[in-house]
Amino acid sequence: MTFQELGLSEDILKAIGELGFEKPMPIQEKVIPILLEKNVDITGLAQTGTGKTAAFGLPIIQQVDARVNKTQVLILSPTRELCMQIAKDLTNYSKYVSGLRVLAVYGGAHIVGQINELKRGVQIIVATPGRLMDLMRRKVAKLNNVFRVVLDEADEMLNMGFLDDINEILADVPKERNTLLFSATMPKEIQAIARKYMVDPIEIVAGTRNAGAENVKHLLYTVHAKDKYYALKRLADFYPMIYGIVFCRTRRETQEIADKLIQDGYNADSLHGDLSQAQRDYVMQKFRIRNIRLLVATDVAARGLDVNDLTHVIHYSLPDDKQVYTHRSGRTGRIGKSGISIAITHLREKFGVSQIEKQIGIKFIKSTVPTGREICEKQLFNMIDKMENVKIDHSQIDTYLPVIYKKLEWLDKEELIKRFVSLEFNRFLNYYRDADKLSEPTEERGRGRRDRDRGEKGRDSRSRQRDNDGRAEQGYTRIFINLGKMDGLVPNGLIEMINKNVEGPKIPVGRIDLMKKFSFFEVKSDLAKKLIKALNRDTHFRGSRVAVELAQGKDTQEKKAFTKRVDGARKKRKRRF
Ligand code: AMP
Repeated sequence: MTFQELGLSEDILKAIGELGFEKPMPIQEKVIPILLEKNVDITGLAQTGTGKTAAFGLPIIQQVDARVNKTQVLILSPTRELCMQIAKDLTNYSKYVSGLRVLAVYGGAHIVGQINELKRGVQIIVATPGRLMDLMRRKVAKLNNVFRVVLDEADEMLNMGFLDDINEILADVPKERNTLLFSATMPKEIQAIARKYMVDPIEIVAGTRNAGAENVKHLLYTVHAKDKYYALKRLADFYPMIYGIVFCRTRRETQEIADKLIQDGYNADSLHGDLSQAQRDYVMQKFRIRNIRLLVATDVAARGLDVNDLTHVIHYSLPDDKQVYTHRSGRTGRIGKSGISIAITHLREKFGVSQIEKQIGIKFIKSTVPTGREICEKQLFNMIDKMENVKIDHSQIDTYLPVIYKKLEWLDKEELIKRFVSLEFNRFLNYYRDADKLSEPTEERGRGRRDRDRGEKGRDSRSRQRDNDGRAEQGYTRIFINLGKMDGLVPNGLIEMINKNVEGPKIPVGRIDLMKKFSFFEVKSDLAKKLIKALNRDTHFRGSRVAVELAQGKDTQEKKAFTKRVDGARKKRKRRF
C-alpha cells in the first residue's frame, strides 16, 4: 500500500515525500482511509512512535479548509513537549498547503504571543488543556467551528488530572464534531470518556496491546533492597552503550540516585518536579543529544520528554499503576530496534511483579545481576571492538606518530596491547576486584543479612550511610526494640515472638537490624501501632521484658541513653537471678 493509494492529496504527498516517508505505517494504513472517507469517531490504542500523528494529522490537513480563517480542528495533548511536536509535525506535513496555519498553545510560555496568533486566526490548535481553558476564558480561542477533536495520549491526560478540563473544553465544541482518541493504554476511565463523548467509535489497535513493542525484552533482577543501587551500577557497566531512563518513585529518590551515579563517574543527571522548567529543559536537551546517557527521572517529569529511542528502560522502583509500566517500557524497542526493560526489585515487590505480568500480559525473564568478572569481560571486549573500529584521522595524528613510535619502540606488540588495555580498563578492574555475585535474596535469609560484597560496598560510604540512616522501606515502619544480640535475639526468634504475641494474621516483617544491645525491625506500616501495643503489654523474651517503640527520630544520643538504661536493667536482673 502506498500513501497515494490511501487517497492523500498531491500537496501532502510532496511534503511527506520530502520528509522521507516512503510507505505508510500500519496505523496510517488503517486510519487515513477511514478518516478521508467518513466522519467517524475512532479510538486508537497506540503509543508514540507508531506513526499516529501522521495517521490523524494527514487527513486533518486534507480536510481543513485553509481559505476559512477559523479554528476547525482541536488537538489536545498532555504536555507542552508533545504539543510542540505535534504542531511541528503538522506544519511540516502542510508545507505546501497555502494559507493553513497551525498553532501550539501550552502553559509555561508567554500568553500574549499566543493571543496575538489566535487573533490572526489559525485553523488547527494543538493545546494543553490548562492553557486552552485560559484562552477560552479570554475569548480568544473560539471553538464553535471545530469539526474534529483529537485527544492524544488520553491516558496521560487523565493521569495528569485533566479530566475536568477536558469535560469543560468539550462542552464548548459543537456536538456534531467527530472525536478521535489515542491512548497507549485503555483503562476503564478512558473507556468511560469514549462512551461519553464518542458515537460508535471504530477501534484501532496499532501494534500490540502488550507493553511496548514486541521486540522489548523484560528482565527482572531481584536483589536485597539495600543492593538495588549496586545492581543498577553493575547493569549500567554491563551495557557499555546504554542510553536509558532510570525510573524512580519519588523526587528524593531520583535526586539521590542521580547524585550517586554522578559521584561514581557516570554520565547521569536527574529530572524531577523540584527542578525549575529551565533546569528541566536543560537536562532534557543534554539527554536528547546524548550528553547524558542515564537519566534518572520520576514518571511525571519524564512525560515531558520526547525521547523514545532508548536502549534501556530501568525500573528502579516499580510503578503503583501497572499501566505506567507500559508507558515506561514503550520508550525502548522502537521501529525495528530491540529494547530492554529492566526491573530491579526486592522480595517485597514480588506481588507487584506478578501483577504487572498478569495485567499487561508480559513475562519477565528472571536474571542474575552480572558478576564483577562478567562486567569486566563485557567492558573489555567492548573496548577492543571500539579500538578495532576507530576511525583514524591521519591529517591530525600523522605529525605526532614518528615521535610516538620512537618513544614506544622498546615495547613489543603484546606489551603495547597490555598497556593500552590497562590504561582504559583499570577503573573497572579496581572497582570489581573483590566483588563477585550480589547475594540472591531468599524469603528467610534476606532478613538482617550482612554485606557480602565488602569490596564493592566499602568503596561507597555514602550509600552505606543511607542504608543505616534509619529510614524504612516504603510502606513499612521501623520499630526499635530493647533487645539485641546480647539478649540472644536472632531474626527467626524475633519473628516468632511477634507472631506469638500479636493477634490476627501473620505480621509481615521486613528488614531486621540486630545490634548488640538493641535492634530495629520493619513491619507493614498499617500494623505498626497494633504491634507496638501488643508487644508492650507484657511480653517477655528469655526473662527480659520487651519494650518497643517507633524508631523515627531516634538519634544516636537517644540510643546511647537507651543503652545505658538497658545496661542498668540488665545488671539488676543479673543480681536478682
Ligand atoms: P509518532 O508516533 O507520530 O510520534 O511518529 C513517530 C516517528 O515516525 C516520527 O518521527 C514520524 O516523523 C515518523 N513517521 C511517521 N510516519 C512515518 C512513515 N510513514 N515513514 C517513516 N517515518 C514515519
